[in-house]
Amino acid sequence: EQAEIGLIGLGVMGSNLALNIAEKGNKIAVFNRTPEATRKFYAEAGELQGQLIPCETIEEFVAAIRPPRPIIIMIKAGDPVDQQMEILKPHLSNGDIMIDAGNANFRDTIRRFDNLKDSGLTFIGMGVSGGEEGARHGPSIMVGGTEDSWKRVEKVLTSISAKYNDDPCVAWLGNDGAGHFVKTIHNGIEYADMQMIAEIYGILRDGLKMSAAEIADVFGEWNKGRLNSYLIEITEKVLRAADPITGKPMVDLILDKAGQKGTGKWSVIEAQNMGVAATAIEAAVAARILSSQKDEREAAEKIFGLPALAAAPADRKAFIADLESALLAAKVGAYAQGFAIMSAASKEFNWNLPMPTIARIWRAGCIIRSEFLDEITSAFTKDPHVANLIVTPAFSAIVKETDAPLRRVVSYAALSGLPVSALASALGYFDAYRRGRGSANLIQAQRDFFGAHGFERIDGVDKPHGPWGSGADIF
Ligand code: NDP
Repeated sequence: EQAEIGLIGLGVMGSNLALNIAEKGNKIAVFNRTPEATRKFYAEAGELQGQLIPCETIEEFVAAIRPPRPIIIMIKAGDPVDQQMEILKPHLSNGDIMIDAGNANFRDTIRRFDNLKDSGLTFIGMGVSGGEEGARHGPSIMVGGTEDSWKRVEKVLTSISAKYNDDPCVAWLGNDGAGHFVKTIHNGIEYADMQMIAEIYGILRDGLKMSAAEIADVFGEWNKGRLNSYLIEITEKVLRAADPITGKPMVDLILDKAGQKGTGKWSVIEAQNMGVAATAIEAAVAARILSSQKDEREAAEKIFGLPALAAAPADRKAFIADLESALLAAKVGAYAQGFAIMSAASKEFNWNLPMPTIARIWRAGCIIRSEFLDEITSAFTKDPHVANLIVTPAFSAIVKETDAPLRRVVSYAALSGLPVSALASALGYFDAYRRGRGSANLIQAQRDFFGAHGFERIDGVDKPHGPWGSGADIF
């Protein structure tokens, strides 16, 4: 019996994905550049061995798969993927599908897709979320490629995906780079979500002087409410964990330098490319950069000291309730921005991205999974072409209710010198977005003054320049 699918790359993600595929009753051929890894993987596969065809040569691997052959490539992102594709290509035949399941930049995915266009082969760029656990037990899967190639893999991918209730968290989202693009924006939103949680934690720790265990209790409570989500759940667990060496709270012993691998940065770059304001995601990426500059921050603290904290909120319980609402309000802003980037990209790349479907397949199997995404799914289902999530009836109701608490929290943090750039960015975004008459009339006047760029008048009079003569006069 031939395999239903093949997989190259038995590293952490690839081996977990392969076991998941086998466990769901799909026969799978596996190959790894270094054959020892294939042998080890097969030896440790236990009762799943019957579903696996371990291969040590590309010829043997390709022959083991039922045509048209879907082949998942789950290796180190970047050049290795191009190298692997070149090695594979001469062995494939018409209709075969190379599937890059790593964390690729969607622009590379578009290039790879285009390169195969006239070869008879095709390419799928597939975003796989949920890390190692997700790969093994059910990831959220975002697929980009031709609809025909999707049909060939739909059954296998549906069987291995995460399920929200019984709904599979996998979908075909559009042509070429659509899947990897959506995965990138998923990660951008994840950056913002994590940063906002960390800022709230900072207020509880440095403003209210609470211990890790006390803060864990707060997040534990919040996880029962509207903020219920994987990230809030793990935040509670993280805050509760003790260091096995010293017995102290683990989190208190961890250096405050955050790492990043690039998807947050790509989200921001693409937001800028598409002309979308994604302030909370930008703030989150910038915050990670600043976090990594530990020495500079310590030196600056020596120069400036830290401001005195603002008067402690009289009603601590009410303030903690404000923090919960503020986090929800800011989260709405971050998600609205993420979806706005996708909406702009969808037009730019002709993907026709299905917004309700994207929210739907993020409800389980990925890092940002939450109840909240179920609400986003409903909002977009009712109105798939709405300009911004914030103005949907469900989310405008949330924002109306939570914007005052967000204001109080950001004010307290600003007066106390506690950094909350993502929360403040979400607030700034909202204030700019919902103000009909802003202050850019002044910018237009300045631009016209120094560069004769012209402006539109509010009274409809067609006189696009101001009475300031030539800007060059000032030099
Ligand atoms: P690992 O480091 O565990 O494994 C790397 C794999 O890539 C090995 O099988 C290795 O083969 C193979 N490889 C490296 N270079 C080449 C090459 N030039 N040609 C052929 N094979 C090569 O990686 P991960 O499993 O952690 O990551 C794989 C992909 O998944 C990456 O794109 C990563 O970004 C993504 N990822 C996604 C996560 C998610 O949450 N979705 C989490 C982690 C990773 P060999 O044994 O011969 O060295």
